[in-house]
Parts: sequence; structure tokens; C-alpha cells
Amino acid sequence: MHDADRRTTVAEPATRGDDSSPHSPAGGLDLAAEGIAVRVRWMGVLLGVILVEARAREVGTDGNILALRALLSLGGLYALLDTSYSMRGKVLLQRYPLIISVLESVFLGLLCYFDFGPGPTSPFRYYYVLSLISCAIRYDSLTAYVTWLLHCLSYTTVALAEPAGWSVIGWDYAVTMVLLFWVTWASTSLANLLRRAREDVVRLNERLRESHEHLEERIAERTRELEEVQATLLHQEKMAAFGLLAAGIAHEVGNPLASISSLVQLLRRRQQDEYTREKLELIEQQLRRIQTILRELIDFSRPGKRSIGPVRLADVISEALSIARYYKGGKNRQLLIDVPSDLPTFQADGDSLVQLFLNLVLNAIDATQQGGTVRVRASRTKAYVEVCVEDDGPGVPAELRERVFEPFFTTKRTGTGLGLFVCRRIVEQLGGQLTLHESELGGAAFCVVLPCPSAGEMPMQPRPRTEPIAVGNEGGR
Ligand code: ADP
Repeated sequence: MHDADRRTTVAEPATRGDDSSPHSPAGGLDLAAEGIAVRVRWMGVLLGVILVEARAREVGTDGNILALRALLSLGGLYALLDTSYSMRGKVLLQRYPLIISVLESVFLGLLCYFDFGPGPTSPFRYYYVLSLISCAIRYDSLTAYVTWLLHCLSYTTVALAEPAGWSVIGWDYAVTMVLLFWVTWASTSLANLLRRAREDVVRLNERLRESHEHLEERIAERTRELEEVQATLLHQEKMAAFGLLAAGIAHEVGNPLASISSLVQLLRRRQQDEYTREKLELIEQQLRRIQTILRELIDFSRPGKRSIGPVRLADVISEALSIARYYKGGKNRQLLIDVPSDLPTFQADGDSLVQLFLNLVLNAIDATQQGGTVRVRASRTKAYVEVCVEDDGPGVPAELRERVFEPFFTTKRTGTGLGLFVCRRIVEQLGGQLTLHESELGGAAFCVVLPCPSAGEMPMQPRPRTEPIAVGNEGGR
């Protein structure tokens, strides 16, 4: 039988990656086909032995029986060799299927010849049929038809080897020849059907794997989205709770504070010694600080009081910068502005936006030394506008990057720790984001990214402007 068949059963799928796996449908089919081939070979050898030994009982052990035994032993050795190759996943003469076909034609011809002597009637002629079926399963149609021709030649040669010559060509010969063609045609057609089914299975398996991967990606994406939504919800809940708390504190602390403040004012108007005057001043300073915190809390907890209307982003930035110019920090700063004058117009509360940019610029000024640089630059795409406030100060250490946005987090002696917290809330109310980065200038870069309103409202040609402005050097924040 054919050995090189494993070229198409074992060796070929190995080039197709996963298809050769015994667990994949295609790999399973290959192994099953290989198993059938090996078993057919062994069945042929065993049946041959039974036939020959039955004949030996009838006619005794003559020269023909000895030749048949020798041939079958050869066939058994060949089957053994092939089985051992098969068990190691290898193929005997895998690249030369026609050599196997020629060897089988000769082998079967000799079996028929020695069985009853020359002539077309040996039962071994049915081995041609087995060989053709096996060949059609393992190889392409061309190889199967060439093997059929070789077997016809082998069988005809045995038939004509009869001394009677052409006269023996009768029904037996004709029927066998028709049978051989019929089997070749039917087996080849069936084998082609099987191959197409195998290709379909491989293709479907591939699609299944792809859709499985796609499904996993979608699940991961959905999970990520869900986590983001959950985080946003949690954040919003925290903000709402904080707003309520802030409103309560502002109300409860505000009134007694106003009384204390007026009492302190009253006392200060009276004649005092140096010690009392100093202490009253200190008390007043601390009261002012508490009032600042309260004002920021009230601003935060009463968004309803704000007036929403069209606000030109360039205008609010410019307003915040003009206030910053008169910021009394007692410091000299280079303020670089790179802001296109025709940034989009937003529906928002103008005061809040001024507060936002003023806070960021004042923080930047606080962070820089005398003669330091603060840069405000804006840029836009169709969908977003980005405004970054940068400085050449020390920046924010990595471990504090998220904490600076928490309420009451401050590293300043007189800070409230509410500035960035409120800024982030203002930006988020407009559907944007406030993030902290490292600036090219060496310090921090606080970037506000806002989604642009619909295209119709926006002028599309930004005109950049960069000009240095010296920040006033009198007083502090
Ligand atoms: P406050 O200004 O009252 O401290 P903020 O919320 O505005 O409150 O700022 C919180 C903290 O973030 C500041 O105390 C400071 O440590 C840090 N910070 C803010 N802006 C900058 C900056 N430009 N460079 C370095 N640190 C900054």
C-alpha cells in the first residue's frame, strides 16, 4: 500500500500552524486517515497469509507457494516499517508517491502471477482495488489516475503472461478493468469531497477562533467602559456629598465667624497695649484665612447662582491674565502667552472660567522663583481645545500628582487646598478634563482640554500670538 500518503495527511497540515494539532478538527481528520491506511495495509497482509495457507493445504507446498510466502513476508516487513514511521509522525518515501505506486503495481502483479500462475483470475487482483482506494484517499486525483494506469498495465501483463495469450482476455479481465476504473473514479470523487469538507472545517475553525478573539476584545472593552462609568459615578457621588457638606459647613461656621470678626474689629478700635494689638492682628489674619476658605466652599456648593451664557475662551483667558498681572506676589515673572484670539465660544459661566485660569496662573506664579517663566498656550483641533499653563518651577512630585486635586491638599503655608479641586470641577462641568503633566519649561503643566462646541459656532483659523508680559512685582496673593 501507499506510504507517501502522509505527505498530504501528516506533513502538509504541519505547515498550517494549528491545523496540524491532533485536537483541531483538521489534525484529527489527518490522523484518522493515516490510521485507516496503516490498518488497510495490515489487513491486506493478513488476508494474503490466510489465502496462501489455504491454497497450500489444497495443493501442497510447491514453488509458487514458497514465492507467495516470500512476497507476503516482504509485504509484512514493509507494513512494519511503515507503521514505525507512522508512529513517529514520519512518512516513508513521502516525496515520491509514484515510486510507491510502481512498487505496489509490481508487488500485486507478482502476487497474482504466483497465485494461480499467469492469467486474470487470482483473488489477489482485488488488492488492486484496495490500493487504488487508499491512493485516492491520500493523494491528488492525478496521482490516483496514474496509479490506475500502472495497475491496469500490471494486471494486463499478468493476464497476457498466460501461454494462451490474448485468448484469455474474457469476462473476468473486462469486469476487473471496468471495476478498477470505477473504483478510481468513485474514490477520487469521494476523496475530493472529503478534502473540501476538511478545508471547510479548517476555514470555519479559523473564523470561530477569530470571532472568539473578537468577543474577548469586546468583553474587555465593555468591562473597561463599565469601570470608567463606575469611577465617574463614584466621583460624582463624592462631589455631590462634598457639595452638601460644604454648604452645611459654610452656613454653620459663617454666622459665628461674622460675629467674631465684628467683635475683633470693635476691640481693635479701642485703646490697646502693644501685645493686645499684635494678637488681635494675628486673630484677624487667621479669620481672613477662614473666610477665604468659606468663600471657596460657598462658590463650590452653589453652582446654581452662576450665570450661563456665551463666553469667548480667548476673552476669559485674557481677563484672567490681566488680573494675574496685578497679582501682588512681590515677584518678577516672565509671562509668555501663546493663545490664538479666535478660540471657540462656549456656553458657560464666564466668572468660573476666569477663576479657573486665574487659579492655574497664580499657582504657577507661586511655584516659580523671581525671574521665572510662566507660559499660557492654547491650541485646538476640530474636536478639542487645549489650554496649558506651564511654569519653570520645581514641578509636582510623582506621588502627589493626583493628590493635588483633592480638597484641602496644600503645601503652601497659607493655602486652602481648594483651588485645583474647584478648577477640576469647573472643567468637568463643561465635559472636559484637567490634567497635570511635566512641562518643557521644567516645572508643572496644568492642561485644560475642552470639547469644542458644534463646528458652526467656531472660527476655524486660529492666529497664534506669543508675547512676553512682565508680571507686576508689588505685593502677594
Ligand atoms: P492652594 O493653592 O491653596 O495650595 P491648590 O488646590 O490650588 O491649593 O493647589 C494644591 C497644591 O498643588 C499646592 O499647594 C501645590 O503644592 C500644588 N501645585 C499647584 N500648582 C502647582 C504648580 N504650578 N507647581 C507646583 N505645584 C503646584
